[in-house]
This record gives sequence, C-alpha cells and structure tokens, in this order.
Amino acid sequence: MWMKTPSLVEKIQKLKREKRAVILAHNYQRPEVQDIADFVGDSLELSLCAAQTDAKVIVFCGVKFMAETAAILNPDKLVLLPDKNAWCPMAAMLPAEVVRFYRDRYPKARMVLYINSLAEAKAYCDAVCTSANSAEIINRMDSDTVLFGPDSNLAKYAQNFTEKRVIPIPSCGFCPVHKLFNTEAISRLKRAQPDAEVMAHPECEPEVWRIADFVGSTSKMCREALVSDAEKFIVATEVGLLYRMKKERKDASFIPAYDDAICSAMKLHTLEKVYLSLKHERYPVKLSPKIMALARKPVEFMLKTKETTA
Ligand code: SF4
Repeated sequence: MWMKTPSLVEKIQKLKREKRAVILAHNYQRPEVQDIADFVGDSLELSLCAAQTDAKVIVFCGVKFMAETAAILNPDKLVLLPDKNAWCPMAAMLPAEVVRFYRDRYPKARMVLYINSLAEAKAYCDAVCTSANSAEIINRMDSDTVLFGPDSNLAKYAQNFTEKRVIPIPSCGFCPVHKLFNTEAISRLKRAQPDAEVMAHPECEPEVWRIADFVGSTSKMCREALVSDAEKFIVATEVGLLYRMKKERKDASFIPAYDDAICSAMKLHTLEKVYLSLKHERYPVKLSPKIMALARKPVEFMLKTKETTA
C-alpha cells in the first residue's frame, strides 16, 4: 500500500508530541520557523512563556542569551538551541569581567542589564530588562545612578523616561543590525510614502528614533500596527518582524527601513535544524548551577514588573 512520506513539518509535530516539547521563536526568525512555533514573540514574551510552560523540553529558536534565560527559569527542563552558533554579538560586548570592573568603579550604583546579555553577566546585576520595560525597571532601582548595558542606545532611550543618571556599560555597546538604519534612507522612504507611519526599535541610533512616529520593542510595534489608522508602515528593525506584522494586519503594507537589516545569528535556525534538535536533543543549554542561581533573581525581578513606556 502506498504511504505518504511525512513532511518535515509533520515529523517535527510528531516529535514535539512524543517528547512533550514546546517551540518558542523570536520575532526575527525565518517565516517557516515562526509558522512551526507554538509561540512567537519578543524577549519579554518568550521569557514569560518559558516561565509558564509545563512542557518537558523547550526548543528555543532565538539567540543563545534567550535560550539561557529559558534555562535559568527552568532548571529542571531540557532547553535546546537548534544551532549552537546562534549567539548575539551585542551580548558578547559585555563579559562578566567588564561587569565586575564597573561594579567596583561605581559601588553605590545599581546595575540593570538588557536581556541581550550573557548569563555570566546577568549573574552579577541587580535586575534584567527588555526593550519593552527598560525605563520601568530602572525607575524601580533604589539608587540615583544606574549602570545599564550592553546596548548604549537603549540606555540613551531609557534616559528620556527617568530622573536617574543612566551610565551605559560599556560606553558604546551596540546591535550591528540596528546600527544599519540611517535617517537619510528613512526620510527618502517617507518622502515617497508620506502617509506611512515610521516605527523604530530603541536599539537604533538616537537620530533614527527621534524621527520615528513610534518607538518600541518588536511586540509593541506589532500592537501599534494593529491599533494605528495608518495603512503603511516603514519599519526600522530586523526584517523578520515584518512577516508577523503582515500576518496580523493583512490590509496594511510594511516597508523595511533597510532591506538588508538581517540578523545572521537569528537566521541560523532552519526547519531541518529544529527537527534534528528535537530528534537528537541538541544542542542543550548548559550553565553552571552557581550562574543559574545568581542570574535567576534579576530575571525574576523583571518578570514581576509590568512593561510601560520604554
Ligand atoms: S538583532 Fe542585534 S541584538 Fe538582536 S540578536 Fe541580532 S545582533 Fe543581537
């Protein structure tokens, strides 16, 4: 009797059921990976998901710091990263020894780290934040000065919403993808599409978010697209987000502010790697019990804080 060969998607679904696994995908993932995921979101949403899941295995389609955060919140679960080379260059700009250097230099200051940081760095901070709740977390610190890293642009953005002095650590940490946007190109697009609403991620350079109509995390941009009267949007963030936006707001058009704003680390995960990850349980996130225990407190602090303006 003729038997239909199961597709890769069907094989993934079968393995997922057998292993009681959940697939989490960041908004910047490839469309086919977003489609297979149980949940697609930004770092904050994925952290909340990871904290609440009762699955035994978490396949994390994102970069390593995100999978590490899921592991920190789920010490008894198996957290898998389908491609072990998916690491964020911005997170690597703030190793633990630099964190300790700034701790010694500013002993009275509290330290808030963007979730885009290494687990070994998170272990020595007071609180973690995402681009959706950075100002709220900074405002909850009991010091007048707050050290913030590794993204210096997000530090500058959050400074607009707090009376506290925010010191970026290191002084020039940045996301190489969001660095690609520039005001000339966006203004050119805006002149061609005067009705379009310009959206920018706070990881962009300040001059970019200053000319934007809306600034926010990727999920805030998606929510804005759903409630805005605009029918066209010029979007200054990694191009993967536009797939989710188009799915959620079918009547609108979404124009990338820069076509080649592609995070190569995020794009390493493919359907085949997701399948192999589930099949061979690779690549498990491994952290020392000490780092897991130390980093858990600042991550949980963030999860208890509601997102606000920045
Ligand atoms: S988009 Fe930027 S911050 Fe996000 S993972 Fe890629 S390099 Fe890191």
